[in-house]
Amino acid sequence: MIKRPGFPARLDLGPAQARPVRAKPVGTALSPGGIGLDSQAVRARMVQKLAAQGITDAQVLAAMGAIERHRFVDSALVNQAYEDTSLPIGLGQTISKPNVVARMIELLLGAKKEPSGKLGRVLEIGTGCGYQAAVLSVVATEVYSIERLRGLHEKARENLRAFRLANVHLLFGDGMVGYAKGAPYAGIIAAAGGEAIPQAWVDQLAVGGRIVAPTVMANGKQALVVLEKTPRELKQTVLEAVHFVPLKSGIA
Ligand code: SAH
Repeated sequence: MIKRPGFPARLDLGPAQARPVRAKPVGTALSPGGIGLDSQAVRARMVQKLAAQGITDAQVLAAMGAIERHRFVDSALVNQAYEDTSLPIGLGQTISKPNVVARMIELLLGAKKEPSGKLGRVLEIGTGCGYQAAVLSVVATEVYSIERLRGLHEKARENLRAFRLANVHLLFGDGMVGYAKGAPYAGIIAAAGGEAIPQAWVDQLAVGGRIVAPTVMANGKQALVVLEKTPRELKQTVLEAVHFVPLKSGIA
């Protein structure tokens, strides 16, 4: 059940109330409580901004328009839910900026897709509040998402319950070892940055699949790394600098 009865009254719709947004519909809101229209316009503006920032994949834009990000943050932060900013989700962790979530999923979608046009099975390392897992559930057939902090694993379970996303599987454990039972994956996406991409992820990746992971470079700074598995090789591409929480081993 939704635990925030005060929410609709608290969401500041800002200028959208005075100035109707003339954006094209960005997809149907996946709304657990039937009150999704309250935030549709704000989300449409977020999607317009993402497009202006260079996100072009229609599946990604539709998924970002469909998932209600405000349901994944504390009620005190609801007004910032659609701003391009990372937000605290407890236990020292953060939900990534919408732009970073969209960018990484767009990169992931460069992998080999199913005949349906969707990505096949995806593994997410770092469930956090569950937001990215929900976005992934729109573009992939199955989502396995692992979190090493029990408190956040449970929070994500609670956040996602009302969405009833049958293709999202939340796991509590150390994502450094991947999740062999769901392998091979068409895509593996990490929401935390490690020193290197763990071999287990490479082993659990399907041929034609992609890993998108923030990784610490020789200069000590994180960059977004894309690893593609072809029948012959592993192709690594280092992209822009990013700032993710550290990938840690073990559970807590
Ligand atoms: N995708 C998340 C972002 C969460 S932040 C969201 O949408 O909210 C990254 C998360 O990675 C943190 O919750 C952190 O606890 C988790 N994490 C770090 N190392 C991990 C590991 N080895 N296995 C699983 N989760 C890990």
